[in-house]
Amino acid sequence: MIRHEHHTIEQRARRLHERFEALYGHRPEGVWQAPGRVNLIGEHTDYNLGYVLPFAIDRQTLIAVRRVDPDAAHADEIALASTMDASGDVPEVTRMRLADLAPGTPGGWAAYPAAVSHVLATEYAGRICGFDLLVDSTVPVGSGLSSSHALEVATIVALNELFHLGIDAERMVRLTQRAENDFVGAPTGIMDQSASLLSQAGHALFLDCRSFASRAVPLPLTARGLNVLVIDTRVAHALVDGGYAQRRASCEAAAARLGVSSLREIDEVHLLDELVEPLRRRARHIVSENGRVLRTVQALECGDLNLVGQLLTESHASMRDDYEISCPELDLAVSSALDAGALGARMTGGGFGGSAIALIDESVRPQVESAIRRAFDRAGYAEPGIFVVAPAQGAGRV
Ligand code: ADP
Ligand code: MG
Repeated sequence: MIRHEHHTIEQRARRLHERFEALYGHRPEGVWQAPGRVNLIGEHTDYNLGYVLPFAIDRQTLIAVRRVDPDAAHADEIALASTMDASGDVPEVTRMRLADLAPGTPGGWAAYPAAVSHVLATEYAGRICGFDLLVDSTVPVGSGLSSSHALEVATIVALNELFHLGIDAERMVRLTQRAENDFVGAPTGIMDQSASLLSQAGHALFLDCRSFASRAVPLPLTARGLNVLVIDTRVAHALVDGGYAQRRASCEAAAARLGVSSLREIDEVHLLDELVEPLRRRARHIVSENGRVLRTVQALECGDLNLVGQLLTESHASMRDDYEISCPELDLAVSSALDAGALGARMTGGGFGGSAIALIDESVRPQVESAIRRAFDRAGYAEPGIFVVAPAQGAGRV
């Protein structure tokens, strides 16, 4: 795989133009980008209609697209290719008629852009036709930084503009959620695509998943000499199976027992005492996590980054002990980062693998990194990927 991290988005877009032309024999009509995200705090709260505080990262999925001539014989054919899915330098192309798209067809990575195309073809029948598409991404795949939503969001912003669909951001969030839930089969909420669509550079996105109200909260990392470090444990997380759906079901069961429409309606943990275990602990994570998101927003507004760090660490303990979605590698990433001087650390994303984040002073970065690497090596774990992320701008045309 070619690494692009040191290239600007514009440089990558130009290269993608060339590769598109080499692959399809004509130029794309444009290039769109959508970033991956980390969640600063507020985990598994989105589908409980609670609060989240993610930010878009400076790693993006780029897609180049050209509409098929509507009078052509293959006017409803879509062609999907990714630079990641290339033998040598030439990506494999998956071709399908829009009318033939269905859950499971196509499978693999092409399911994501196909899912979005299918949802749009259903909702906006007669208004979209075939297209050629080429993807290039610097969002690590399967690391919990939401490369899947970056791909879906890049697809929807491109198709929305090219086919003049006039879809607003909130509806794009709903449509990509439906694409991922019904077509890909991952029962995810609305946080990831909201972060990718709505984030502002230098800010985190405070989102109320019940009202969909959102606000950009300044995240003064550079100004304060801080870094957010991502530690990719290389443990594959798989949202389509097991744990995630089970946790979701537990929350629904807890809300039903308590007679509320969602756990968002509960704001005091003692109200959960009537629940049986493990439902009580599951619900306690959601209720306490909502409180921590609100306190993190306040702490950021007061510029108290030490308190932000502390809240991140509390959030991790809650996910490890109450929600039970961590794993030994994530716990080790967090504990070794804290031991080496991080202000706070937690797993981020759906859990059961993927990545952790650590809020650190940039002066201690070398020792935090080597402490984590040493700890992983001693435990016999695979070498983690460690890199800094910055809060970046949400999706749009390049
Ligand atoms: P995450 O979203 O945390 O990265 P997921 O398992 O939800 O992990 O999604 C990863 C999947 O997204 C990959 O297995 C692949 O199918 C698809 N994907 C994401 N980005 C790309 C890309 N640039 N090219 C091809 N497939 C991609
Ligand atoms: Mg994903």
